[in-house]
Amino acid sequence: MTVIPAKQILIRTPQPNWWFSTDFNVNLYRGCTHGCIYCDSRSVCYGDPDFDTIKVKENALEILTLQMRKKRVKGVIMTGAMSDPYNPLEKKLQLTKGLLELCDFYRYGIAITTKSDLVIRDLELLTSISKHSPVLVMFSLSTVDESLSSWIEPKAPSPARRLLAMQKLQEAGIFTGVLLMPVLPFLEDKPQQIRDLVALCGQHGAKFIYPWFGVTMREGNREYFLKKLKRRDPEMAKRYQHRFGNSYFCSISRPDQMMELFKSECARYGILNQMQQIVKAYKKPKESPKSKQLDIFDYSLDG
Ligand code: SF4
Repeated sequence: MTVIPAKQILIRTPQPNWWFSTDFNVNLYRGCTHGCIYCDSRSVCYGDPDFDTIKVKENALEILTLQMRKKRVKGVIMTGAMSDPYNPLEKKLQLTKGLLELCDFYRYGIAITTKSDLVIRDLELLTSISKHSPVLVMFSLSTVDESLSSWIEPKAPSPARRLLAMQKLQEAGIFTGVLLMPVLPFLEDKPQQIRDLVALCGQHGAKFIYPWFGVTMREGNREYFLKKLKRRDPEMAKRYQHRFGNSYFCSISRPDQMMELFKSECARYGILNQMQQIVKAYKKPKESPKSKQLDIFDYSLDG
């Protein structure tokens, strides 16, 4: 772990309708140790050649406190876009936990993306925030095949652990679901793989799955991905090079057909998959016990 200087932690997202309708972005860490071979954050454009080492931003929580306190209009903070906020160091450093405490105190909402079941540690805080502001927990999932995951996401908690964590959050009343991305061409795009994934997500209480059927490749992450792929499966690496060359968007074959299949599988389990629906659902104000009582009263009058 190394410490790096930081001036701003709370960054306003471009408006309107940014990713899941969030208002601010926070990255308390730089780099990630989960080792996903497809990770876009390894791209040269982000300027972090030592991506697999976690860097901690100096005085991050102090800077964040000052920034959060000053804002007149609060909103939902997203975290987890460039590195996992629940990396193994978080157990000890508790910076993400500190962010949640600040959200609770200054009344901000939170939208977390993670591959780690460590998020369960903060269940009480998430519950407390959800009483006054929107809370969204997105588990990043690319496959539910444990063997495949163990080589494309070698140091991340297994898909089974992520699914169990999602179930625990859902049972505790936290709005949670899955970011299904990437879906790697040739490796994760068989219809049965998508059926199995949706079924398991449904059985573990996913409220939504937001997909992207492909992977992005650019300088830095492309070379890393192909190097790892070649070591494991040289023929597959050649297939990628032949099919995609230097393309940025590397889509699966017949993405429209896959989307149709995916949507019909989601419908079986009542899982949302459109951005607008998901935003509407997680931002919906929670019913207070008082309004529930009124509902019952209204119902008895009507009846
Ligand atoms: S968990 Fe996310 S940030 Fe970390 S290596 Fe995997 S894809 Fe990259």
